[in-house]
Amino acid sequence: MSLSKLFRKLSNDLAYQGNLLWELIYPRRCAVCKNEIDTGYFCESCRKSFALGKELTNVEALDKVILLCKYQQQLQLAIHGVKFEGKSNLLPFLKEEAQLALKKSPHLQELLVSTDLITCVPTSPKRKQERGFEVPQELFAFLDNGKLQPNLLKRVRNTMPLFDLEPSLRRQEVAGCFEVQCSVAGKSVLICDDIYTTGSTMNEAARALKKAGATSVIALAFTASKDNW
Ligand SMILES: [Zn+2]
Repeated sequence: MSLSKLFRKLSNDLAYQGNLLWELIYPRRCAVCKNEIDTGYFCESCRKSFALGKELTNVEALDKVILLCKYQQQLQLAIHGVKFEGKSNLLPFLKEEAQLALKKSPHLQELLVSTDLITCVPTSPKRKQERGFEVPQELFAFLDNGKLQPNLLKRVRNTMPLFDLEPSLRRQEVAGCFEVQCSVAGKSVLICDDIYTTGSTMNEAARALKKAGATSVIALAFTASKDNW
């Protein structure tokens, strides 16, 4: 880790610890209504406006797609802030929101037990180097039930940000960008990401996993863009 990255990480950690200390004096507040809260980023009532809990079946190579929350308003701003504005001190709050959203679904709890392997969509090496961390891995780190394999997939080349591309060009852009690093033959895989838009990236990951012998691939996304609601 370079000195500047180490410094950034330390200052982010300190900022988060500082937040917790700060909360002893000034309690944590919901990002929407500003009421006092103990956990997460929203109060129970505001959280409902972000809940999606939607399932899609057979989306190309994906057997199932599970979408937890709506990518909108303060949640959208926070994720964007973490990814593109260096606001990594918000990550722990988002992680708690992901965990809370997941707890709400008994079906999903069962899925976590029945699936063989859990992994995350890897960030491109260039962006990982810029950020110093991978957002999906941070968000879903709590899923570590012995099945989590963070390095199951590897990005073998950088891709353009897909939101800049027409949907028809997205599949082409991500084609062949993943390599499977461990044996997945005969296994079911759950793959996690922070935002689901057209599903091009998740589908490319599913194609790579199935080519390597995975029997089923299910996508789990913390948030989904409006056209998926
Ligand atoms: Zn609220």
